[in-house]
Amino acid sequence: MKNLASIWFGIPLWQRILGALALGALTGWLIGPAAAQLQWIGDLFIRLIRMLIVPLVFVTLVSGVASMAAPAKLGSIGLRAMALYMATTFVAILFGLAGALILQPGRGVTLEAAADSEPLAAPVPLGERLMAIVPENVFAAFASGDILAIIFFGVLLGAGLLMAGETAKPLIRLFAAGSEAMLKVTHIVMEVAPIGVFALVASVMGSEGVSAFVSVFSLVLVIYLGGAAHMIVVHGGMVRFFASRSPLTFFAAARAPQLLAFSTSSSAATLPVTLTAAEEDLHIRPAVASSVIPLGATINMDGTALYVAAVAVFAAQIFGVPLTIGDYATIALTTVLVSIGTASVPSASLFLMAAVLDVIGITPDQTALVIGFLLPFDRILDMWRTVINVTGDLAVATSVAAMEGELGEPGEATEAAKAQQV
Ligand code: ASP
Repeated sequence: MKNLASIWFGIPLWQRILGALALGALTGWLIGPAAAQLQWIGDLFIRLIRMLIVPLVFVTLVSGVASMAAPAKLGSIGLRAMALYMATTFVAILFGLAGALILQPGRGVTLEAAADSEPLAAPVPLGERLMAIVPENVFAAFASGDILAIIFFGVLLGAGLLMAGETAKPLIRLFAAGSEAMLKVTHIVMEVAPIGVFALVASVMGSEGVSAFVSVFSLVLVIYLGGAAHMIVVHGGMVRFFASRSPLTFFAAARAPQLLAFSTSSSAATLPVTLTAAEEDLHIRPAVASSVIPLGATINMDGTALYVAAVAVFAAQIFGVPLTIGDYATIALTTVLVSIGTASVPSASLFLMAAVLDVIGITPDQTALVIGFLLPFDRILDMWRTVINVTGDLAVATSVAAMEGELGEPGEATEAAKAQQV
């Protein structure tokens, strides 16, 4: 028994999830509509995910905002980095939106709740929508799971903590601890994922057949192609424009952190290698590298932003929610906040994207379904978005270093430093 458990837990979680996916698909295919009997297990798992969303979004967002250094303290390096981080995140969102609008990954997909969701309410006027962002009563917002109001309060609280400085340190630490703890709770829930995924995939496969999964393939295409385009055009363009460096040399120097990001799906785990590559291969002097890269690993997530924006459109397509220009603007704004609040660990944004779906009128039930549907494939998407996240940090750091006169010449790296990189 003990042996079985150690074999089970010895397999990386994402491999167990992929295995469960394959087994679930096979089961659904073999037993057909009878697989609906497994639905309740999937529903139970989805309830666990829903349970996480409010506390996870709140504590990670407050702690994310509170850990940003105040711009005045950051100086010109920090201000330039912040401006470029925000600008690149915004462009990544445009790539995500455009990709999902062109490839339409959500078209023709039916998820269970699509049938029994409440009929769509008449579009709410912009003024009313903005009004709803400001909670009249913060506790009521928490109780009813009003994500946008919670985000609004969370950002203000984070800013307040930053401004209060020394006095607020204990509370900042409390939020950091809370965010750490909520990520652990997420890990516990993720341990149930193989069982939940098995049941979900079997029942979808049993009722819908293979067609349900074709759409996931299109979403994977949106993220991979959109992400590649973003890296080549935006990151490559930036180093060419600001630092007069060849994009090819830049991408060659970024290879080690990219590979590590791809295999760990965590910008935080990749940070030491990103820093080494910044200083030794891109010749960014420590004054810039040591401040800009860690800041980027915390708040700059181009890949995550691209993914979240694309999923928002994907979900709107599934549930037939019409999106107006105002909706796209709201998606962009919330996605920027979510990408700042996302922790640099595997699958962090999968749950936070609930915030963005909420603002475009996707109900919590539908959101949980989308998350449950994407979960088995999240690792594949996460690997790539983490590569984009890390490359974005390096491109911004290179550009800021060039503007500050802190970019060294290629010959500067020592042989020893080079050997370490291999
Ligand atoms: N895994 C990503 C990172 O560490 C975050 C996410 O999008 O889930 O950068």
